[in-house]
Amino acid sequence: MKTGKLIVFSAPSGSGKTTIVRYLLSKPELNLDFSISAASRPPREDEVDGKDYYFLSLEDFKKKIKNDEFLEWEEVYRDNFYGTLKTEIDRIWASGKNVIFDIDVVGGLDIKHIYPEQTLAVFVKPPSIEELKIRLKKRKTESEDKINMRVAKASIELATAPQFDFIIENNDLQKALDEAYNLVSDFVNADK
Ligand code: 5GP
Repeated sequence: MKTGKLIVFSAPSGSGKTTIVRYLLSKPELNLDFSISAASRPPREDEVDGKDYYFLSLEDFKKKIKNDEFLEWEEVYRDNFYGTLKTEIDRIWASGKNVIFDIDVVGGLDIKHIYPEQTLAVFVKPPSIEELKIRLKKRKTESEDKINMRVAKASIELATAPQFDFIIENNDLQKALDEAYNLVSDFVNADK
């Protein structure tokens, strides 16, 4: 199989990485396809199974861990498992595209360690923890408790930023989008 490149965007929840990833996916010249993760949490109102995630029961998720079906997986929050199925990467590479990931920092660094040469790992940094909290509240997708859990985790995640190939500071969204575009464009076009 012809293998392509892997582009990882990792960041604390609410830092804007999903917006950046969607923007990059809208650019056909980058030849990207989104790695649909498996998740054991229930879908949010606007989420579609097989598009945003492969939504699995906790039991099915654990079965797939046992069967070694994941390239990487994480219990990102308690009983909320997320992971990249090996078949997902095969599917995208078989179609001749590069893979883009929207995953947590541990998973992102795992991918970088498994495929060091083929992976561009980018960390998206929110302006501050305070701002992150405001964004998560505005999004209204999580309860107060869950928001606090995500904010607490963000401080730990921020400490891993230096291990990534690049850090994008998301203070000004348009600038962050441009910077992300340039990084990814250079990486996918290198040695062509
Ligand atoms: P959410 O519940 O907001 O969709 O995602 C929660 C966190 O899980 C986010 O940081 C998201 O990037 C991360 N995540 C999504 N898919 C994966 C995956 O396949 N592997 C890992 N390690 N994290 C993931």
